[in-house]
Amino acid sequence: MTSADEPILLLGGTGEARELAARLVATGTPVVSSLAGRVRQPRLPVGEVRIGGFGGVDGLREWVVDNRVRAIVDATHPFAATITRSAAEVASSTGVPLIRLRRPAWEESASDRWIRVPDMPSAAEAVRSRGAGRVFLTTGRQDVGVFADDSVAWYLIRVVDPPTGRLPARHELLQSRGPYSYADEAQILSGRQIDLLVTKNSGGDLTHAKLRAAADAGIEVVMVDRPDEPTIGKTVHSVEAAEHWVRGHLD
Ligand code: NAP
Repeated sequence: MTSADEPILLLGGTGEARELAARLVATGTPVVSSLAGRVRQPRLPVGEVRIGGFGGVDGLREWVVDNRVRAIVDATHPFAATITRSAAEVASSTGVPLIRLRRPAWEESASDRWIRVPDMPSAAEAVRSRGAGRVFLTTGRQDVGVFADDSVAWYLIRVVDPPTGRLPARHELLQSRGPYSYADEAQILSGRQIDLLVTKNSGGDLTHAKLRAAADAGIEVVMVDRPDEPTIGKTVHSVEAAEHWVRGHLD
């Protein structure tokens, strides 16, 4: 392998990661996109792709060293905290440069009624404390389990693939994949008589319509704040900035 073939490792699973992969591949930059393999039919980025966990920090370090990775771009979802920590530890111990690409978080506006919570168990507690109600749960299938002990509220659970663990006693599963329009979201909120929306602060445009629809309907939103970011490596908020950084490391 010559140094020109040494790849960028692009930790993905997001639209931004796919967009960055497309830009890098288009200019002949060697890049390997990595997906966790959670979704049954993932939207694949263009270019080389590997799928599945690395086997913790040690596995990721081995992969980075064996493949002579030139730089790591962590473009995972803002709530994918474990792989983000692993990437920071590997960057720190190997000296391989690291950047995080994170879409900006959503900000509360005057028309929003947010109940901000620091994590998923606190979100479940916030729902439980309201007692009976009709909850639209959009936090993804991995986080449904924390709501499973609530037998009082009714949940509309929106997921890409069906959850495998326990579910709240009173629920309906809605299998679908975004992006969602304002009309789609308003229809769900009114059609299912939703009175509380639960979401992670994922940020970005693709799933933002539910917040506008909730605000217009006067519906409260339990907003789960993002986990803290590691201090190693810098963070940028646009695909353009990440691409610029990568090019700087290739020169
Ligand atoms: P996580 O909790 O940070 O990671 C759990 C484990 O999954 C990691 O320790 C790692 O296994 C593996 N993993 C995660 N991302 C990987 C990647 N890009 N390539 C290879 N292995 C990866 O992550 P998560 O929240 O389960 O999310 C998994 C994937 O789904 C991420 O790629 C993320 O971008 C995407 N995603 C997550 C969310 C969300 O709400 N969390 C939403 C949309 C998309 P090893 O330790 O064995 O390496």
